[in-house]
Amino acid sequence: MANKDASLHIFFFPFLAHGHTIPCIDMAILFAAKGVRTTIITTPLNAPIISKAIEKAKTHQTKEINIQTIKFPSTDDTGLPQGCEHVSTLPSLHLLPAFHKATRLLQEPFEQLLREQHPNCVVADMFFPWTTDSATKFGIPRLVFHGMSFFSLCAYEVMRLYEPYNNTSFDSELFLLPNFPGEIKMTRLQVGSFFRKDDVEAKRFWKQIHESEVRSYGVVVNSFYEVEKDYADHYKKEFGRKAWAIGPLSLCNKEKEQKTCRGGKEACVDENAWLKWLNTKTTGSVVYVCFGSMTEFPDSQFREIALGLEASGKEFMWVVGKRKENKEDQWLPEGFEKRMKEKGIIVRGWAPQALILEHEAIGAFVTHCGWNSTLEGVVAGVPMITWPVGAEQFYNERLVIEVLKIGVAVGARKWSHFVGDEDGDIKWDAVEMAVKRVMEEEEGEGMRNRAKLFAHMAKRAVEEGGSSYSNLDALLQELASLSH
Ligand code: UDP
Repeated sequence: MANKDASLHIFFFPFLAHGHTIPCIDMAILFAAKGVRTTIITTPLNAPIISKAIEKAKTHQTKEINIQTIKFPSTDDTGLPQGCEHVSTLPSLHLLPAFHKATRLLQEPFEQLLREQHPNCVVADMFFPWTTDSATKFGIPRLVFHGMSFFSLCAYEVMRLYEPYNNTSFDSELFLLPNFPGEIKMTRLQVGSFFRKDDVEAKRFWKQIHESEVRSYGVVVNSFYEVEKDYADHYKKEFGRKAWAIGPLSLCNKEKEQKTCRGGKEACVDENAWLKWLNTKTTGSVVYVCFGSMTEFPDSQFREIALGLEASGKEFMWVVGKRKENKEDQWLPEGFEKRMKEKGIIVRGWAPQALILEHEAIGAFVTHCGWNSTLEGVVAGVPMITWPVGAEQFYNERLVIEVLKIGVAVGARKWSHFVGDEDGDIKWDAVEMAVKRVMEEEEGEGMRNRAKLFAHMAKRAVEEGGSSYSNLDALLQELASLSH
C-alpha cells in the first residue's frame, strides 16, 4: 500500500557509523518507496556518501529522498581531529566516547531544522537520546532506531532491571536470563561494560538512552516477526513499548548495482574478479569471513584465523578491512598468500557483503554477530560461525545458536570494545573445527536446512501481505492519523 495521503514527511537521523547509517539509508529508501517524503539528516562530510547510495536507489523509487546537512562541531569544541565526522575516520576507537559527546552538540542545529521543516515524524538513532526532547518541543513523534534485534532489546532490559550477572561468584559462571523467553544463559564476561559498575560514564549514557526510549513514540526494528516471535511479543507486552518490525531492511536493495553501492560504500574488490572467482566454485563450498566495520583484532588473532582457514581445507573469502590495507602483511603467517593463491581471496577494504552472501557458492559465514551482518546471513540462508566481540553481539550469538539453531560458536568468551578477547585468543584449531562442523558434518546439514527456511520467511515478510510489509503500512497509517 502506498502512502495515499502523500503528505507524510519523515526525518531519518542515523548515528555516524556504518552499522547505523547503512540500515537507516535502507529505511529511508523503503519509506520513500511507500510514497513518504523522506529527509536524511547528516553532516557535510557524510552527505556525499549517503547521496551516492540514494542516487542508485532513486532510479527505482518514486518519492523524493532528500539529504539535509547540519554542521559537525569544530575541533576546538570536540577535541577530535579535523575531518572526523564518521566513526570509521577516527584514528582510534578510544576516541569513541569523545565522538559520542561531539554528536550531543548537534542538538541545536537539529532543532533549527525541526523548527523550519516540521516533519510528521523523526526516526532517530538510539545514540541521539536527546532527540526525544527535541521532537517533543515541536510536538513531533520520535521513533527510536537501535539497529538491534528484539532478542537483544529484551536482553538489555533484563540486564538493566535484574542485573542477573551480580548473582554469580566468578566471571565465567553461567547465569540464566530471568523473565526471558527460552532457557538462555550467559556469563558476566559477555554482558558488556555498560552494565558493570566500573564504567560510570557508559552507564549514565545507557540510562539516558533508556529514558529517551521510554518517552519516545515507539521503536522501529530491523527484523521480521517470524525470526524472533517470542522476543518481539515479549518486548511489546513485558516492557510496554510500541514497536514495528519492518525488516530485513537490506532487502530494499533489489538491483545488483544498489547492492554493490549499499550505504554509499564503493566495494574495493574488483567486482567482476571476485564474481568470476565465486562463479567457478561449487554450491556451498566457500567460507565468507567478515567482522563488520569496526572490529580490530590484534595481529596474533589474524594469524590464528589464517591458520584455521588453511587447516579447514575450505576455500574462503576473507574481508580484513581497511585498517589492514597499508600495513605490512606481517599479520599473516609466512607464505600464506602464496600457498592460498588458488584457495582464497583476502579483501583489504570494503566488500559488498549482502551481495556476496547471497552467492550460492557461500556455504558458511564467520561473523562477529553485529545485527546487520547476522540478519544478512539469515536473509542469505547461510549457516554462521559466531565470533562475537563487543556491543550486543554476544546476545545475537545466543539467538543464532540456541533459538534459530543455524550456527556454531567459535568460542569467544569475553566482551571487549571492538578489539577481540585480548587474554584468550581463539586458536586456529577452534576455527578449523567450527568451519568443519558447519560445512562437513551432519549437524551442519540441519543448520543449512533451517537457515534456508528462515531465508524464505525473511523474503516473504517484506512482500505484499507479509508481516513486515503489513507492519510498515500500519505504522504509516498511524503516523498519518496523528498528523490530522
Ligand atoms: N559491511 C559491508 N562490507 C564490509 C564490512 C561491512 O558491506 O566490508 C556491512 C555489513 O554488510 C553490515 C554493516 O556493514 O551491513 C556492518 O554492520 P554490523 O551491524 O554487522 O556490524 P558493525 O560494523 O556495526 O560492528
